[in-house]
Amino acid sequence: MELKSARPLTEVKGDWGGRSVPFWLEDGREAVYAGLLGVDLEKAPGSYELKVAAQKAAGEKIACSATIAVKAGKFATERLHVEKQFVEPSPEQIKRADQERQRLREIFDRVAPERLWNGKFRVPLDGVTSGSNFGKRRILNGNPGSPHGGVDLPGTTGTPVHAAQRGKVMLAEELFFAGNTVVLDHGLGIYTFYGHLSEIDAKVGDTLDAGAVLGKVGATGRVTGPHLHWGLSVERARVNPLQIVKLLGR
Ligand SMILES: [Zn+2]
Repeated sequence: MELKSARPLTEVKGDWGGRSVPFWLEDGREAVYAGLLGVDLEKAPGSYELKVAAQKAAGEKIACSATIAVKAGKFATERLHVEKQFVEPSPEQIKRADQERQRLREIFDRVAPERLWNGKFRVPLDGVTSGSNFGKRRILNGNPGSPHGGVDLPGTTGTPVHAAQRGKVMLAEELFFAGNTVVLDHGLGIYTFYGHLSEIDAKVGDTLDAGAVLGKVGATGRVTGPHLHWGLSVERARVNPLQIVKLLGR
């Protein structure tokens, strides 16, 4: 979304249901502020208010608001029947997966004030423009699982995985469900997630340039075959990452 102002502003910030939405100044454009509003795939349909506050050069505070209509998404449901041992992890595995989920939540919760990226985001695999399974809910033996929070991109083992944009490596390790995983912080609450890698080629704390190779496609974690699980978190909302490729950058 864009916010236009007749005069330059500072401290432009949105509030979306208690979550902070940062705005930034688009390069080469005067007094046009851009912001990205993350709508989680499980957010209930309805009307929500986005409040925006800013300061004029002289320090005077101003505010405005907009009503955002959230419509129900259409996500597929898949019912599968599999042998019990394959869908019921052991108590230790459940504990591990819960701890990892909690850690990821803490990472995604942080809104770094600095914007690390500039320009467009890219799909992490060369030549790939589409992916599948975003939001898909799997019902295994009658038990609904959590919806699939990313897109699965087709790729063979060993295919280089590129950073979607410039970002800082926040996590680079093996997780129970996602296998070898890299998480990049792009700043302003925007994170990308790369899972099931056969190989990780990045270290926590590194800042990667847009397009840098961070690992290779693989089949680690809970998978049926090699592919890249690519996720996007915007102000902690799980968003289809293919949308950021279309939305950002001119
Ligand atoms: Zn996936």
